[in-house]
Amino acid sequence: MNIAKDKVVTIDYSLRDEAGELLDSSEGGEPLIYLHGNENIIPGLEKFLEGKTSGDSISCTVLAAEAYGERDESLVFKVARKDFGDNVEVAPGMQFEAHGEEGAQIVTVVDVLGEEVTIDANHPLAGENLHFEVKVVDVRDATEEELQHGHVHSEGCCDDECDCDDECEGEGGCSDGCCN
Ligand code: ZN
Repeated sequence: MNIAKDKVVTIDYSLRDEAGELLDSSEGGEPLIYLHGNENIIPGLEKFLEGKTSGDSISCTVLAAEAYGERDESLVFKVARKDFGDNVEVAPGMQFEAHGEEGAQIVTVVDVLGEEVTIDANHPLAGENLHFEVKVVDVRDATEEELQHGHVHSEGCCDDECDCDDECEGEGGCSDGCCN
């Protein structure tokens, strides 16, 4: 079976930045299972996987614009130290989850100067060209329920006891453990 929209795809992968530093890998852990064509993974990688089948290996570079986007310097701005709360340590390099109009996002502390904290709300991988090594492990049809939800239901998850609904928005759908 070939990878196409609405197929459930299992891949082993490793992700490196342009300098070759390993950022993420499924090695030693679970492979990634996702629903193709449903914005579960970055668009650039889906393009490279389209049409591939079990056993295929690909090596590709996804440009920033088709990965986590270009950096937007207007997303680097100052906030008040007190916004983080009194008992929270705030130091450069620390990351926090912020909840804004577009849902949860990661912000990174760039600098702390007295009561002023400079944060960067770009995705930590924004502006990065990403290099993937991917091996396609399995391709199958999605179930009706998976298509309705727009993500994969892995085994043992999302059964009758599991209250999985549209709130379940983990990147890998239920396979992220959000329904457990
Ligand atoms: Zn679901």
